[in-house]
Amino acid sequence: MQATELKRHLNRAVDAIRSWEQRFGPFPASPAGAVDEEVLLKTFDAYAERLTGNYPFFHPAYAGQMLKPPHPVAIVGYLAAMLINPNNHALDGGPPTSEMEKEVVRQLASMFGFPDEALGHLTSSGTIANLEAVWIARELAPDRAIAVSDQAHYTHTRLGELLRTEIRMIPSDEHGKIRLDELERALQAGEIGTVVLTAGTTGFGAMDPIADVVPWRDRYGIRVHVDAAYGGFFKLLADDPEAPLEAETQRHLHAIAACDSVVVDPHKHGLQPYGCGCILFRDPSVGRVYRHDSPYTYFTSDELHLGEISFECSRAGAAAGALWLTLQMIPLEASRGFGPILSAGLRACRGLAARLETSDRFRVYMAPELDILTYFPEPGSKRLSQIDLGSQEVFDRGMSSQRLFLSTIRVGADHFCSVHPDLQRDAEEARILRSVLMKPEHEAFVDTLYARLVEAAEGRS
Ligand SMILES: *Cc1c(COP(=O)(O)O)cnc(C)c1O
Repeated sequence: MQATELKRHLNRAVDAIRSWEQRFGPFPASPAGAVDEEVLLKTFDAYAERLTGNYPFFHPAYAGQMLKPPHPVAIVGYLAAMLINPNNHALDGGPPTSEMEKEVVRQLASMFGFPDEALGHLTSSGTIANLEAVWIARELAPDRAIAVSDQAHYTHTRLGELLRTEIRMIPSDEHGKIRLDELERALQAGEIGTVVLTAGTTGFGAMDPIADVVPWRDRYGIRVHVDAAYGGFFKLLADDPEAPLEAETQRHLHAIAACDSVVVDPHKHGLQPYGCGCILFRDPSVGRVYRHDSPYTYFTSDELHLGEISFECSRAGAAAGALWLTLQMIPLEASRGFGPILSAGLRACRGLAARLETSDRFRVYMAPELDILTYFPEPGSKRLSQIDLGSQEVFDRGMSSQRLFLSTIRVGADHFCSVHPDLQRDAEEARILRSVLMKPEHEAFVDTLYARLVEAAEGRS
């Protein structure tokens, strides 16, 4: 969206809310909190200047972390609701945005193939959404451990500490997926109550073999929680034979429908500003675990209050409003809306991987499954320590020339040498390069990204 269009829509948002405010009649303004316009202008300039210290997350030359600006529609939706500032904790804190939250939660549940009665709500982040999932799991099986892979998001270990629940770390294979043989061995010992699988790991974008674990739910009496904070939206492409996804990846995305709970982050692939995660439970009866009695809230309705089924108290109604408006304009579909956006990123990722494969300057670390690519500069000496230095050098040169913005990831030597056995292990770990190609604009920029990578590797940038 062009700046002029965005400004027009932002103006319309302000006008719409101001005109609603006028219905309630004039009232004397208070001088408390008033600010000097002149000073504000100057201070804002300083603020805007400080913000220029950011990396250009919007630009396809930014191919680093899982970061991009929200869709302009989300910004307009957020701003309009923020002018009112509803709180989706209780219905009387924001009736319209609470309704919208229920609607978007149903849309997300149906994206995963969860039934209509599935219970869920938005959260302020994926971490909080996962906290709710493992808290419910712990309450339902208080004496049993929670199994996660060593590639699971680092917050799971912390959540285990917080809940004083044992986290059993299951090793991953060379593709970054949880090892089924190790997991089943742990399940056979009967001490695991819940398995957390990751639908797209944050490091490599690897899909855990969800479909192969689902049959173990009944056999071992476990709950299966899927952390799809990053990868959940790819479920939209699980039925599309044309989608740039492996059939195996699609099979595991499908299997989320049979799991007990799933977390997805609309603030990652859902085009939303930060502050928007989501937890979904297939069986709504887990709502009983949330039961609490607050003397302050819930007085306008007998209907279900989102605050009754959520761990957090205050939550931005604007986050629900922004997501609602976004999903109206950009539907959760394979052939339009989200599908083409996600596919473009997948093709960009495969395109860049193919370019790197044919190059003698770089090597792909792991074939990409979603839109995360890991790679490293080919070391003349075949030593891990040289890969580490080379990666850091490419990263630094890209950043300092402002032509290429990447991220790095540390990989242990065992994993490195199992994937690339020709390399010499002379260090315990090595940094490699990592690019999340999550903007559709990345697709047309693959050749430029590649050229700038070579430029940085040769020290020309
Ligand atoms: C990002 C991420 C999280 C954490 O979510 P936040 O929204 O950053 O709190 C958890 N799990 C996975 C797989 C993630 O990618």
